[in-house]
Amino acid sequence: RAKAVGGGSVCLFEEAMLERIRFRQAIKHDLGLALERGELHLVYQPLLDLGSNRVSGFEALLRWDHEDRGTVSPAEFIPIAEEKGLIVPIGNWVLETACQEAAGWPEASSVAVNVSAVQFRSDSLPLMVAGALNRSGLLPHRLELEITESVLLHDSEHNMAILHALKKLGVRIVLDDFGTGFSSLSYLRLFPFDKLKLDRCFVSDIGRSVSSEAIIRATGEMGRALSMVTTAEGVETMEQLEWLRANGWAQVQGYLVGRPSKVPSTSIPDIGTATVAESV
Ligand code: C2E
Ligand code: MG
Ligand code: MG
Ligand code: MG
Repeated sequence: RAKAVGGGSVCLFEEAMLERIRFRQAIKHDLGLALERGELHLVYQPLLDLGSNRVSGFEALLRWDHEDRGTVSPAEFIPIAEEKGLIVPIGNWVLETACQEAAGWPEASSVAVNVSAVQFRSDSLPLMVAGALNRSGLLPHRLELEITESVLLHDSEHNMAILHALKKLGVRIVLDDFGTGFSSLSYLRLFPFDKLKLDRCFVSDIGRSVSSEAIIRATGEMGRALSMVTTAEGVETMEQLEWLRANGWAQVQGYLVGRPSKVPSTSIPDIGTATVAESV
């Protein structure tokens, strides 16, 4: 239908809009049941340390297997979950599951969990994280919590207090999607993040845009000066990886190193000991 143009295009556009609304309505309804039906699972994407050429951790990414629609993307359903307040029970499930699964990994790899700004609205997040750590036995330093600047954008005093409480637990706090927001730089003054994750839109410009390269270089330098681990997302080519290595970046994540996958814990030592050359 997307290919259809010409006289009927306005009509088709309206039809597409309606289809979109119907899709959102259906997703909204089904998402409420997804948790109890056991339709959610986590996939894990490796993070490669460029210093040691070793996978030191994995990011947990949420997947929803819908009975009719197949796998629904988190980009599609997380905003709806946030709107409906469902992100709190779903987010708790993600934390609990990621900690449980990571505690069973043979190598002491870290696990990174994405946390929505909506999960910061109450005071209960630190308690929830402490509970997930206790129940799983995962050591706090192995858990990373990834937040975006939206957490600092609203009600920043309350959210800052929660961030400090989380940090006190011994977990690491990561600023995700760096560079895509409105004022990423100013947030670095507000909180001592342990890691900065540069958004993949910059990485895809390596070798194609001198200005993007200058921004990545400067960002890496700044991150190191602020004692943050510098991680670049969306690394898809060896050229990008080598450029980032040459410019002092500490970590890379992307399809080149590994796609998000349902890694059974027993296969992690293979990945963990793989060199770049082997894993590509
Ligand atoms: P994110 O946290 O920035 O995660 C990185 C996204 O980039 C993931 O998309 C990952 O699959 C994708 N990616 C990784 N390497 C590459 C690459 O080399 N090329 C390209 N083109 N893409 C790459 P995914 O899994 O679809 O997740 C999208 C977003 O949804 C995440 O962005 C995160 O913001 C959100 N999300 C995922 N899981 C959760 C969750 O459990 N809770 C919350 N609150 N948000 C989540
Ligand atoms: Mg993330
Ligand atoms: Mg990101
Ligand atoms: Mg993102």
